[in-house]
Amino acid sequence: MKLGIFALQGAFIEHEKAFSALGADTAEIRRRAHFSDGLDGIVLPGGESTVQGKLLREEGLLQPVKEAIEAGLPVFGTCAGLILLAKELSNDPNVYFGAMDVTVRRNAYGRQLGSFRAALAFDGVGEYPAVFIRAPYIERVGGGAKALAQVNGYAVAARQGNILATAFHPELTDDLRIHGYFLDMIRGKV
Ligand code: GLN
Repeated sequence: MKLGIFALQGAFIEHEKAFSALGADTAEIRRRAHFSDGLDGIVLPGGESTVQGKLLREEGLLQPVKEAIEAGLPVFGTCAGLILLAKELSNDPNVYFGAMDVTVRRNAYGRQLGSFRAALAFDGVGEYPAVFIRAPYIERVGGGAKALAQVNGYAVAARQGNILATAFHPELTDDLRIHGYFLDMIRGKV
């Protein structure tokens, strides 16, 4: 199993550690040439979506990665990664991969609640200790997508076929079950 972890900006090392602990190989993607065939899945880490989006565009990665996701390449996006995957942002005119039929609000919890923890019920995983950092939430979950977890009535995790996205940071806790869920998705087990 080999995963490509986008390493342009943000919390990518933590994802590498989590997947390594689960026995998967990881390779960092920084340039167009790093995005090659032979990856079983890709990971879009948290960070700053506007910076990541700009770098993806400048590297010529936006279009080929979008096409690969649309062709079925498994992808796991966390926080800024969710923003990059969304078809629509409710408070930002940008669209990046536009692959997931959800409307996402950036920095949705405001400045006071910039960072917080919440114990969630994550569908298919169970209770999960989630860490949120200047997190978005999902305002609308469209046709093909399905909410997997909620906080205060808004979805904070969703799945659409080969696409998994969370508003929170599973890579910042020792609980590896959501990373394991993504590996099971790749194996076709969930
Ligand atoms: N607020 C960031 C953004 O809009 C996302 C925060 C994160 O990834 N921790 O891109």
